[in-house]
Amino acid sequence: MADNRLLADLLLPEVTLQPEDMFSRYPKRTLDESAKVTRFAPSPTGMLHVGGLYAALVSERLAHQSKGICYLRIEDTDRKREVDGSIQGIIKALDYFGIHFDEGLGVSVGEAGNYGPYKQSKRADIYQVFVKHLLVKGLAYPCFCSAEELAELRKQQKEQSAIQGYYGEWAKHRNITFQQAKEEMEKGKSYVIRLKSPGSPNNKVRFTDLIKGYIEMPENNQDIVILKTDGFPTYHFAHAVDDYLMGTTHVLRADEWLSSVPVHLQLFDVLGFKRLSYGHISPIMKMDGTSKRKFSKRKDLDGLAEFYIRQGYPGQAVIEYFMSLINSNYEDWSINNPKAPFTKFTVEIEKMSTSGALLDIDKLNDISKDVISRLSAEQLYDQAYIWADKYDPDLSELMGKYKEYFIKILSIGRIGSKPRKDIIVWSDIKPVFSYFFDELYNTSINEGYALPPTVPADIAKAIVHSYAKVFNYMDDKDTWFDKIKNLAEKFGFARDVKLYKKNPEAYKGNVGDVAMILRVALTNRSATPDLFDIIQVLGMDRTSCRLKKFLENMN
Ligand code: GLU
Repeated sequence: MADNRLLADLLLPEVTLQPEDMFSRYPKRTLDESAKVTRFAPSPTGMLHVGGLYAALVSERLAHQSKGICYLRIEDTDRKREVDGSIQGIIKALDYFGIHFDEGLGVSVGEAGNYGPYKQSKRADIYQVFVKHLLVKGLAYPCFCSAEELAELRKQQKEQSAIQGYYGEWAKHRNITFQQAKEEMEKGKSYVIRLKSPGSPNNKVRFTDLIKGYIEMPENNQDIVILKTDGFPTYHFAHAVDDYLMGTTHVLRADEWLSSVPVHLQLFDVLGFKRLSYGHISPIMKMDGTSKRKFSKRKDLDGLAEFYIRQGYPGQAVIEYFMSLINSNYEDWSINNPKAPFTKFTVEIEKMSTSGALLDIDKLNDISKDVISRLSAEQLYDQAYIWADKYDPDLSELMGKYKEYFIKILSIGRIGSKPRKDIIVWSDIKPVFSYFFDELYNTSINEGYALPPTVPADIAKAIVHSYAKVFNYMDDKDTWFDKIKNLAEKFGFARDVKLYKKNPEAYKGNVGDVAMILRVALTNRSATPDLFDIIQVLGMDRTSCRLKKFLENMN
């Protein structure tokens, strides 16, 4: 023990605090028994991935539906892999999707919460207290093996068909003395600190995963690295220390970590921490041809949360879609509770799929259309404007210049029990509504009018000419339509479809064809929402001007 103490002081001379000091710095949370404390713990090694967003949502829901706490912890101890701007990017993306944390770094404000710092790189001193504690107890030791020595070890293990790794007899420095360590250090050798694993693969660890159910695995016997050469902890060690001190009750994370649970439970045990619950989330899958596969972090752009933001999916659409992936009964629930916010649905984590949910774009699109159709024109304008400001400067300019007009446009077909569903993503807005804007309408007519080939130009012109004469912006819908019917009759088209169907040979077409000609003249589109509504929004001057322009252009 005396030797251990000397060794600990030799390796970490500056560390004077004890675990107890940490326990009083981070007192137990005073929450209801049933309240869950969860966290999302991304590593800033790139952009937010759909799998990360999914895990963040599960964590956020479990905490908040139980009146608990969900915090954001940045796991940035792998300094070599850190990508500049990644932290801000991840935080902003989570915010776009409406995932809000009670503690940790925020979008605009600094850090909130009493269990910080919430960035692991700022917690080095905390980890070292616990590393030193393990050194003193003889449960950790310095390892001076060079990369070459470790390679040699692997080679020998391979030759002897032994299990790979640094453990048991193979662990060269497992029983290093204070004196030996001092000599190595005097030679200027760098070192890591390893756990002296008390485990044996002949024993089993047993635990019940919240998602995967009961699991048995061999105990860990590897002397894993807990503190790296640079003084930062490994993921495993930081996980144990942070989740314990920060009062996490439920760790929800990607199932790539499932195989590390024996290491983590062992760390909790040697550190004297109460174990917490784990739920390992199966990855989100994508269709590739006819088979399902995981998203590739490097190759699949559609595996990045940014991909959905850039295309203009409202954050809520992706979240509601993910809710249906988390629990398949969410969809029925939302049909039965159309007005209730998704947060009223109770997530049951044990009902999550263990085989990996498939990201189905068609399904996401349906939900997105629905979410957008439920917005008021003003809400739609506000949300789309924020998006356009960042991703579509032309649209943003139009939205800024014609706010009132834009809201009127977005109002078309929005009121009533069956609102229009022609927008899936914000990037649809420009193509769907471009004809309302003279700038874009004029560009389109430069390429000619989209008249159906069956309509002779002289007839189209004559119809528009007559319509321009009778057009009165103040007409109500019936009067307006009567005028079109009269026009139809005048030019040899049936007044209504029924008449036409009875005797098609007697007519050039029906009133629908006449309306189509006017539609093309006014919008240069053959399919639009109700033409009367469009004229109301275009306004008197713009409508007259477009009719005139059509007549000029058809000369
Ligand atoms: N930093 C880890 C990762 O990004 C987090 C895993 C966890 O949630 O514990 O994979």
